[in-house]
Amino acid sequence: MVRKKGKYICFKCGFEYADKKWASRCEAWCSSHNSCSMEVIKHAIRR
Ligand SMILES: [Zn+2]
Repeated sequence: MVRKKGKYICFKCGFEYADKKWASRCEAWCSSHNSCSMEVIKHAIRR
């Protein structure tokens, strides 16, 4: 994941998370499923 100003960004889908835990979970999901999990991205920061 990419870390930027206290936020963590999934390098697969580009969603931003305040919590590293969710960013890494998102990446793990995106990498193995090639899509995003609604359960994970609902924890993303809204743009
Ligand atoms: Zn992702």
